[in-house]
Amino acid sequence: MSRTLLALAALVALSGPVQAQKPFDDPVVERMRKDIFFLAGPECEGRGVETKGIQKAADHIAAAFQKAGLKPAMKDGTYFQPFDTLLDPAPTAGTLVFLEGDKKTPTKLGTDLAVMGFTRATMKASGGLVFAGYGITAPKLKYDDDEGLYVEGQVVVILRRTPRYGAKGDKRFDTTLPDGQDSSHAAFTAKIALAQTNKAAALIIVNDSTAATGNLDPLPVFREHLFGAPASKIPVFMVKRETVSDLFKGAGHKTLKELEAAINNQLKPQSFELKGVTADAVATIKRPAIPSKNVVGVLEGAGPLKDETVVIGAHYDHVGYGTRNSAGGATASGKVHYGADDNASGTTGVIELARRFGAMKDRQGRRIVFITFSGEEDGLQGSQFYCKEPLFPLNKTAAMINMDMIGRTKPVHVDWLGLFPKKDKLVVYGTGTGDGFEKLTEETAKKADFRLFKVAASAGNSDNHSFYLKKIPVLFLFTGLHGEYHRPTDTPETIDVPGMKRVADVVEQMALNLTTRETAPKYAVVTSGAPADPTRPAPPQPKGPTGPRLGILPNYAFEGTGVLLEGVVMGGAAEKAGLKDGDIIIEIAGVATPDLGTYMSAMGGQKLGTSINIVVERKGKKLTLKADLK
Ligand SMILES: [Zn+2]
Repeated sequence: MSRTLLALAALVALSGPVQAQKPFDDPVVERMRKDIFFLAGPECEGRGVETKGIQKAADHIAAAFQKAGLKPAMKDGTYFQPFDTLLDPAPTAGTLVFLEGDKKTPTKLGTDLAVMGFTRATMKASGGLVFAGYGITAPKLKYDDDEGLYVEGQVVVILRRTPRYGAKGDKRFDTTLPDGQDSSHAAFTAKIALAQTNKAAALIIVNDSTAATGNLDPLPVFREHLFGAPASKIPVFMVKRETVSDLFKGAGHKTLKELEAAINNQLKPQSFELKGVTADAVATIKRPAIPSKNVVGVLEGAGPLKDETVVIGAHYDHVGYGTRNSAGGATASGKVHYGADDNASGTTGVIELARRFGAMKDRQGRRIVFITFSGEEDGLQGSQFYCKEPLFPLNKTAAMINMDMIGRTKPVHVDWLGLFPKKDKLVVYGTGTGDGFEKLTEETAKKADFRLFKVAASAGNSDNHSFYLKKIPVLFLFTGLHGEYHRPTDTPETIDVPGMKRVADVVEQMALNLTTRETAPKYAVVTSGAPADPTRPAPPQPKGPTGPRLGILPNYAFEGTGVLLEGVVMGGAAEKAGLKDGDIIIEIAGVATPDLGTYMSAMGGQKLGTSINIVVERKGKKLTLKADLK
């Protein structure tokens, strides 16, 4: 294809509304257009769990359910199933005061003090102050900042990175990684581990002169170190150089700059105890809980299958103002992320299905429970909650159909030049999770004239997966990823509403089958993976073998110690080892796993083909299980 044509297509894509979004002649398309324009309109504020807008969205859905003739699912006569969406831990307060006789040197959180994201729980510490250079003990290099220093119970101040960091040609401390990268000694985690081993009370890190350039002495944001690294057992702070330097000088020592230069010149530690100086530190970490609700409406069944249930669901929350989970970067934060495709589209689908089934006279077969979930963008929390406290028994729930991002059926956003295949696309995940699903999917997609992409596995990134892990067969409809995903530009004008109606047609046919077929579909485990977007070419596979996986779904909302299992993938290493839902993993291969971060790094250190011990807490009792990592 010529570049001119591509450029022209790009111009077209930028030039505004994709299609006329004036009223449609088809009354069904028109009512769906109205729903999605409301749900993804400014009034609903991107449906972030902490916004007022999401309440308006919930009221809109409940009103539509009522109008469609659905019964409220709750005993209190409402459509709202309440639960808390738990957000990531964050520091709500942090104080660090240096004391020298009567003299107090306070620091101010956000200005000259930061609590680092390794600190995952509220902690207090106080002790004498020691300076321990770069916080490195490297026997092979005959360099030890802690040599002769009494660290136990003390508050330790260290520099970031390594001596002569980044100096041209000096790879002294780059013992493990290629040139230009942080050495293992420079890693925060290595410095924290050393401080913990030496039983320090708290760790204070200051930028070295290579991290603080010009007048900048940047403090990290908490979130930067919240994931992918183990939680620290001691509070870890970062403090401005000036604060520490003044303190050292006041106590009769060299300034930070002088100390740093002395270490770098001679490659000899310059550690010392600040006699008469102590520090009091408190880091208060909280995990905000946002009151949220699933919206649940019911159409009772009739006949011999009426005690069984089919769930039709979609999440209605999105990322609000993009302060979390935005793909748009810093410039997008604070702007409304309308979430038209993600997932006002699926929500509109659920409302549409409620209308269609609600209008059927003397409908026979299984009960249909229509659910729009909240808390999805923060880790499938609404659907996990429903599966934990189901309103209808899960063992009599025959199937779950999920819709997430069903508003982009067109092969490309705009195709005025007619360069792309004409047929609209539809992805269905989970076709291997229930018997007969593959045929049902093929037939229904064909009837609605879609180019079908089937995936046998249940995708782990949407609410279907919560049900799949409870051994319920699932079908998940999706129309593909796009450039507006999780950005303020995911607006209703970009939605193909007639295409969305045809996705609803597919779900209607699927649900008709699933509510009336004589025997409930038999659940099957699919161990193969689910690609993020089968409508696009597969991304290149990472080089080398990937690390072993246990096959667990952790509960992201768990606040206790350990990793609580929301589910265990059948056929996976965890299941074979005998792990069960509700178990709390507290140790992996001899390494304590008080939280997800430590669990992830403990698993990261394991090798395929080995056996490891997993210690779990089950009903208050400790249990050691053996898992084969294949
Ligand atoms: Zn999303």
